[in-house]
Amino acid sequence: MDSFQPTERTQVKRLPKRGVYDRAAIHKILDEGFLCHVGFVVDGQPYVIPTGYARAGDTLYIHGSAASRMLRTLSQGVAVAVTVTLVDGLVLARSAFHHSMNYRSVVVLGTATAVEDSAAKTEALRAFTEQVAPGRWAEIRWPTEQELKATTVLALALTEASAKVRTGPPIDDEEDYALPVWAGVLPLDLTPRAPIADPRLPAGISVPGYVTNYSRR
Ligand SMILES: Cc1cc2nc3c(=O)[nH]c(=O)nc-3n(C[C@H](O)[C@H](O)[C@H](O)COP(=O)(O)OP(=O)(O)OC[C@H]3O[C@@H](n4cnc5c(N)ncnc54)[C@H](O)[C@@H]3O)c2cc1C
Repeated sequence: MDSFQPTERTQVKRLPKRGVYDRAAIHKILDEGFLCHVGFVVDGQPYVIPTGYARAGDTLYIHGSAASRMLRTLSQGVAVAVTVTLVDGLVLARSAFHHSMNYRSVVVLGTATAVEDSAAKTEALRAFTEQVAPGRWAEIRWPTEQELKATTVLALALTEASAKVRTGPPIDDEEDYALPVWAGVLPLDLTPRAPIADPRLPAGISVPGYVTNYSRR
């Protein structure tokens, strides 16, 4: 299937024309990002926790210490919502009311399951490393059995997912277009700065190309 089927829960209600369910478009947003917010409820209290993620196929992985409350809770099959947000620009309108942001965001709903198998866990950790720095897994030391044991990896199937996308200039009230106020979009991008070598890096190790040419796009 090329699109996610909108459900009662993933139907974008406000400005529904901004809703996107195309699978490739959702994958593209998830691949550009690496930071998500994970929402779940414990004893009636909602928590929204920022953390890293990786996408492989139609699965999102989150991982962390086996002692993490988030991971312990979610591995019990508690309902979860994961959001990923890319901010593309500030939309500066002529009125306060019509200020906005250009963005691409994804919401995924479901329940996560623990990845127990060592090989599958290692594969998920490879996906994590490649999500933040494609090309790095081939160079680094891979996790030991002990490190795998200390790490909880959860998989969340991409079955109930939506994206929402805003692009373009401000949409002002017709009578406001004559106001002598600058209006437009201030594009924002996540761009890397010069890499800083670890002070303990032995001499002679050059910065890899995937670092010097780093781009999230
Ligand atoms: C950077 C950024 C800034 C925003 N600023 C504002 C703001 O100031 N005020 C405001 O009201 N809204 C803002 N939004 C939009 C906001 O995320 C919601 O879409 C909106 O508030 C509610 O839409 P709804 O009633 O359709 O969603 P709901 O009824 O709350 O959601 C229904 C379903 O629609 C889908 N959905 C809703 N929103 C999104 C989304 N953003 N991405 C992917 N799927 C979604 C989900 O599957 C959700 O379960 C912003 C979004 C982003 C990414």
